[in-house]
Amino acid sequence: MRCPICNYQDTKVVDSRVASDEMSIRRRRECEKCTYRFSTMEEMELLDLMVVKRDGKREPYSREKIERGLFKALEKRQFTDLDFKKLVHAIERDIQKKKVAEIRSMDLGEIVMNRLRGFDKVAYIRFASVYRSFEDVQHFQQELDKLIKNKTSKKKIKKQIKENRKKFVKK
Ligand SMILES: [Zn+2]
Repeated sequence: MRCPICNYQDTKVVDSRVASDEMSIRRRRECEKCTYRFSTMEEMELLDLMVVKRDGKREPYSREKIERGLFKALEKRQFTDLDFKKLVHAIERDIQKKKVAEIRSMDLGEIVMNRLRGFDKVAYIRFASVYRSFEDVQHFQQELDKLIKNKTSKKKIKKQIKENRKKFVKK
């Protein structure tokens, strides 16, 4: 890699460390001519994977596309950057485990859904309702209703705990 200051072509790596998301490596480099120090980030990437779409067309796998879909599903949901990176990493690891050169977009969607289910239930349902066929949408609506019910029962439980506490304090 060239030095960004003097453009000399030989820079040596003085230190490498895995970033906290365990998906990228930061390397500290030093120019062998002017000794300028800088760092580079190397991101792990899935290579040579083709996605076969419903209409039979093929396109190279794109992490950005997966991330865009996830962001859409996770709109207004709370999550950290690190958790998000880990989610993408887990999805890509699942893809890699299949050891295939081509993957159907449907199968890719299933992998994403499986991971999203454990990450955020609401986002999972949003994603699935877009991804799955129309007949499934009703099923997901039912799941969503269940979630909402759970939320209200959670509130009820919290209220009860509060009331119980008050009683306890009075006594
Ligand atoms: Zn230099």
